[in-house]
Amino acid sequence: MEIIAQLHSILGQSHVLTGADAAPWSRDWTGVYAWTPLAVARPNTTQQVAATIKACAAAGIAVVPVGGNTGLTGATQAQDAVMISLDRMNAISVNADSMVATVQAGAILQNIHAAADDCDLIFPLLFGARGSAMIGGNLSTNAGGSNVVRYGNTRDLCLGLEVVLPDGSVMDVMSALHKDNSGLNLKHLFIGAEGTLGIITAATLKLFPKPLAYATAMIGLRDLNAALPLLNRLQRETGGGVEAFEFMPRRYIERHIAKTEDGAEPFDQPHAVNILVEIATTRATDLDPDAQGTPKLTAILESALADMIDADAAQDAVIAQNESQRRAMWTRREQAAEITLGEKTSVDTDVAVALDDVPRFLDQVSPLVTGIDPGGQEFYIAHLGDGNLHYTYFATTDDPAVQSALMEAIESVVMDLGGSFSAEHGIGTSKLASMARRKDPVALGVMKQVKAALDPQNIMNPGKVFPDHAGG
Ligand SMILES: Cc1cc2nc3c(=O)[nH]c(=O)nc-3n(C[C@H](O)[C@H](O)[C@H](O)COP(=O)(O)OP(=O)(O)OC[C@H]3O[C@@H](n4cnc5c(N)ncnc54)[C@H](O)[C@@H]3O)c2cc1C
Repeated sequence: MEIIAQLHSILGQSHVLTGADAAPWSRDWTGVYAWTPLAVARPNTTQQVAATIKACAAAGIAVVPVGGNTGLTGATQAQDAVMISLDRMNAISVNADSMVATVQAGAILQNIHAAADDCDLIFPLLFGARGSAMIGGNLSTNAGGSNVVRYGNTRDLCLGLEVVLPDGSVMDVMSALHKDNSGLNLKHLFIGAEGTLGIITAATLKLFPKPLAYATAMIGLRDLNAALPLLNRLQRETGGGVEAFEFMPRRYIERHIAKTEDGAEPFDQPHAVNILVEIATTRATDLDPDAQGTPKLTAILESALADMIDADAAQDAVIAQNESQRRAMWTRREQAAEITLGEKTSVDTDVAVALDDVPRFLDQVSPLVTGIDPGGQEFYIAHLGDGNLHYTYFATTDDPAVQSALMEAIESVVMDLGGSFSAEHGIGTSKLASMARRKDPVALGVMKQVKAALDPQNIMNPGKVFPDHAGG
């Protein structure tokens, strides 16, 4: 094919994969989606990305950018399209003085963590897929994860971008500036766009001082309403030092034990509500021991938990005594995707509501879904510190009418509470129907105008994010 020959001349034959060589890019992490790309192009420079896009645009062939392929919404499906993998563009350089990392889009998140750590800094974007997800994918999905409560989403961690546009031109807004009001802040258009407006080739990222110490605990409660006062107290007493505040209900603990080798009970007695909380400090004085020899940071957590137990607001608490206990607490939480996804009849959502609406959401949604499919089962986990629930209903049937009624019911509760049907995973193809029926129509219209202006041929990741978008 002519396009393959052109890609060979742009990238070299060994960096254009077809047939069996392209198989690793023919399905995503979920295994739910599978496709056959025309080819996988593996450029090594921004200029090669630009030349590849130009060649595809001239031939009218769709382009699908791909990073680690760990997205959960089917956003890298690329039937008969040219996938552009950024994996060879993975350079990372850290400027410790200005606390900024300059990275190419194919840098693996965990490698950015390691490079920052070498300079006693952190890049605080944190989630289970960090060993394979790449920063270009993280930016394009505006990924969230466990530390959003303290540091914000990927959007909040990005200072500048380099982007190849659908016409092959290169937009350089690779600023390392914290202030730049020279017109529209265009980087935000591409963050969270899921590759539909252009290909991110590089970024400048904010780094933060590495905490000197963490205090991490599992807390058992009988009532979710007791959780938010604890979060707010810890925020006050640590100067906003809560790094993570995660909620696992009893059913999650049971499934984790059943589905994993190292799953274990967090407490001697089962509790309806299990919270994983982590606070951190960068101040040396927070490590000063009190009269009992307990470092100040841990003492703050201990005292808050003791008060809750005295008031019967918490039933149990365990503070990690060493790094291996802390890791065990985190492993339980980070295996959520592995133990949840892949059930054939499940209705999976990724919703956000205001923090104090989480119990209300759960109270309201439960009778609706069990009314629609009485034999089904609710299953969820939440980044409670930012009001983000991964709420799943294990339905008894894959009947599209039942599945759609369940999704409608869940979304209607979310929307009535002023929430979002898409918190951190993005839209891809899996939430196109929700996008069509739930997104403000004027906002959706503006989004489509932006898409048509930047990509009139609709070659950039077509069929994703924009429902019924027919291109220019
Ligand atoms: C075990 C597990 C746990 C997870 N936990 C979380 C979590 O806590 N929070 C969270 O937010 N997500 C989570 N995810 C989802 C996923 O890891 C994130 O969406 C991640 O940001 C995707 O990165 P990626 O490199 O794999 O992107 P991909 O899956 O390769 O791509 C995702 C999207 O970005 C586009 N894209 C990729 N690279 C570029 C680029 N350079 N330029 C333009 N567009 C591009 C793709 O076309 C696609 O639309 C989890 C996934 C797994 C498997």
